[in-house]
Amino acid sequence: MISKDLLNLLICPKCHSAVREQTTYLECTACHHQFPIQNGIPLLRVDPHETLQESSPQNLKTHKSQA
Ligand SMILES: [Zn+2]
Repeated sequence: MISKDLLNLLICPKCHSAVREQTTYLECTACHHQFPIQNGIPLLRVDPHETLQESSPQNLKTHKSQA
């Protein structure tokens, strides 16, 4: 869960529009580019080699413990 205060600060790196939180990722409200949320931290990056069309639940199980 991303706090609304944080969401308000986040913008799409592609088109600089606001993003909204979906279940497991953030989505740009304008270009609908999807950004993963890893360990509660949204990763706003534009990687043409990475397709997030299918975000499998398997990826969520690989938790990296960062103390
Ligand atoms: Zn965008």
